[in-house]
Amino acid sequence: MITFDEALRIVLAEATPLTETHEIALDHALGRGMAAPLVARVDNPRFDNSAVDGYGVRLADLPGPLPLVGAVGAGDAELDRLDRPAALRILTGAPVPTGVDAVVMQEDCRVKGGAITVVGTVEMGANIRRKGEEYRVGGRLLPAGTQITPPVAGLMATNGIERVEVRREVRVAVVTTGSELVTTGGNLGPTQIYESNSMALRFAVRSLGASVRIEHVVDDETLTRDVLSKALASSDVVVTTGGVSVGDRDLVKGVLANLGVEEKFWRINIRPGKPVYFGKLGRKLVFGLPGNPVSALVTFHLLVRPALRKMMGIVDPAGPRLPAILLQTLTKAAGRAEFIRGRMDASGERLKVTPDRARDSHMVGGIASADCLIELPAEAETVEAGTLVRVIPLHWGPV
Ligand code: AMP
Ligand code: MG
Repeated sequence: MITFDEALRIVLAEATPLTETHEIALDHALGRGMAAPLVARVDNPRFDNSAVDGYGVRLADLPGPLPLVGAVGAGDAELDRLDRPAALRILTGAPVPTGVDAVVMQEDCRVKGGAITVVGTVEMGANIRRKGEEYRVGGRLLPAGTQITPPVAGLMATNGIERVEVRREVRVAVVTTGSELVTTGGNLGPTQIYESNSMALRFAVRSLGASVRIEHVVDDETLTRDVLSKALASSDVVVTTGGVSVGDRDLVKGVLANLGVEEKFWRINIRPGKPVYFGKLGRKLVFGLPGNPVSALVTFHLLVRPALRKMMGIVDPAGPRLPAILLQTLTKAAGRAEFIRGRMDASGERLKVTPDRARDSHMVGGIASADCLIELPAEAETVEAGTLVRVIPLHWGPV
């Protein structure tokens, strides 16, 4: 059986950024990958402007008293010159008129009878943000592949950009399997349960900025073949849940092989998530996730999410693993790596993590309150409280 690192390496090697790009409104681009570098269209700052509410002065005239001879606010276009011993009222963001050497904060001035006197020393250029001091028109601000996060969108808006070139949306088909599952909120028979993976995975996919279609199929070979062949035809990535283990009714692998999907791996040495299948049909990726809702979500986060992000053209699709201090001793059998749900605590000097009590993959409550996965290596048996472990933060949002 391969290790998780090996599985992730294979998935990321097989997932390639979608080549087709298109232009969309920035308004709809949250989480998408930029298909072209971001180049500055305006200087930042656009013009010399004041960083504070205060008074514009000439250094040679200080400390005053200096008569107040005018005022400029943000957006004012008609500017007074400062060409004699005097001061101008200047507000934050206002253009700095010709002649002004510095803006003195109003807290550093005494105002009396329409004149100001400056208290303390003032340096040349104080509180003036200079035109182009951060970047100039034509400057490269961000490389292609950067994900469009709120600050990236803000930077684009600062440059007057309303439409943006992105890689086209990844189309994902989620196919849930299982004859015991009820897909509508209707009555449950004594041995039935509600189908829940499609709801969790629908959100997980959609929140990455990909589109998603959902199908459910009972454990029947012909129907499974039918649903999977349609899913393959209409999407870039097919994600199935359930039916991929070694049970008699686990039909997914066989049907995929029949449909020509090439198996890249089946089974990873991890818990939860051992039966994960990964295959390819042309450029399309197929993930067979386990049916257990926790296993499905964990393996989605560990493998499918990085693949989708890579296809979106995002650099560093897998994200970080952070060192953290384990707060409770954990024991496990040697031989298989384990991902345990936990909660991080960043309040101290070093990141700490508390494992969740529910460790079995059918225990669905814990994952809803977890914010990370604690990674215990295959060979570990007892991991003492106080040990430095690696955690993978759980990110269910687009950025
Ligand atoms: P399987 O991998 O098909 O053997 O399923 C493993 C376990 O997960 C079984 O207890 C299933 O009933 C449950 N399960 C599978 N798929 C789903 C689903 N879509 N929603 C909720 N539970 C599921
Ligand atoms: Mg099943």
